[in-house]
Amino acid sequence: MIKDNVEKILKELPQEVLLVAATKKRAVQEIQEAICAGVGAVGENYIQEAEKKQLVIGRKVKWHLIGHLQKNKAKHAVKIFDIIETLDSVELAEVLDKECKKINKVMPVLIEVNCAREPQKSGVFPEKVEEFLKEVIKFDSLKLTGLMTMGPFLENPQNLRPFFSETKGIFDRIKNSYGDRLQWKYLSMGMSDSYRVAIEEGANIIRIGTAIFGPRGEEDKDYL
Ligand SMILES: *Cc1c(COP(=O)(O)O)cnc(C)c1O
Repeated sequence: MIKDNVEKILKELPQEVLLVAATKKRAVQEIQEAICAGVGAVGENYIQEAEKKQLVIGRKVKWHLIGHLQKNKAKHAVKIFDIIETLDSVELAEVLDKECKKINKVMPVLIEVNCAREPQKSGVFPEKVEEFLKEVIKFDSLKLTGLMTMGPFLENPQNLRPFFSETKGIFDRIKNSYGDRLQWKYLSMGMSDSYRVAIEEGANIIRIGTAIFGPRGEEDKDYL
C-alpha cells in the first residue's frame, strides 16, 4: 500500500521536484517502507519524536523539520535535521545560528511564509519576507535557501493557487536580487490534496503525508 502510493507519486513528479514524506505520528515501520519505495527525505514536526525515530532509521534519508520550532529546542534541532523549513522569527534565527556555531555546522533553512496571513499560524507575512531576509542574512551559520508555506485549509485546492502564486512571486524576487549571495533554490509548498496545484505554481519541494500513509489517527501511538 505505502509502496504503491510512493511509486505512483514519484512517477508523476517532474524531475526537479523533491518528495518529502510528512511522517508525524507514523510508525518507524511505515517510514521504512516508504524509504524502501524510494522516498529520500522525511519531514518531521516534533523534535522528540524525530530524535527517537532517527535513532532507529539513521541518516540514510534527509531529515527536514517542517513543524514550528521553539527556541528552547533549537539545540536539539540543529543536531538532527539536515534542513529547517520553518524559520519564522529573528529570535529563532539568532538561537539557531548560535547553536550551529557550537557544533560547527552550517544549517540550510527555509523562511516560512504565512501566505494567507492567518493569525493562528506561524510564518512571516508575505509583505514582510524581504525585510525579514535582510535581518537574518547576517547569521552566517544559517544558509538561506528558499521559502516554505502551508497555505490555508480550503476544501478545493484550486483555491490555493493565488496564495502559492504570491509566494512564488516573492521567491523569484529574492532570487533576482540576491541570487549571487544566496544559494536560493527551494520552494516548499503543497501537501496531499494540493501538491499538483503547488507544482504548477512553481513548488520544487512537496510534503506528503496522507497520500502516502493513509489517514492520520488522532491518538498518539508508539512510533517504534
Ligand atoms: C502534516 C503536514 C504535511 C502533510 O499533510 P498531508 O495532508 O497529510 O499530506 C505537510 N506539511 C506540514 C507542515 C505538515 O505538518
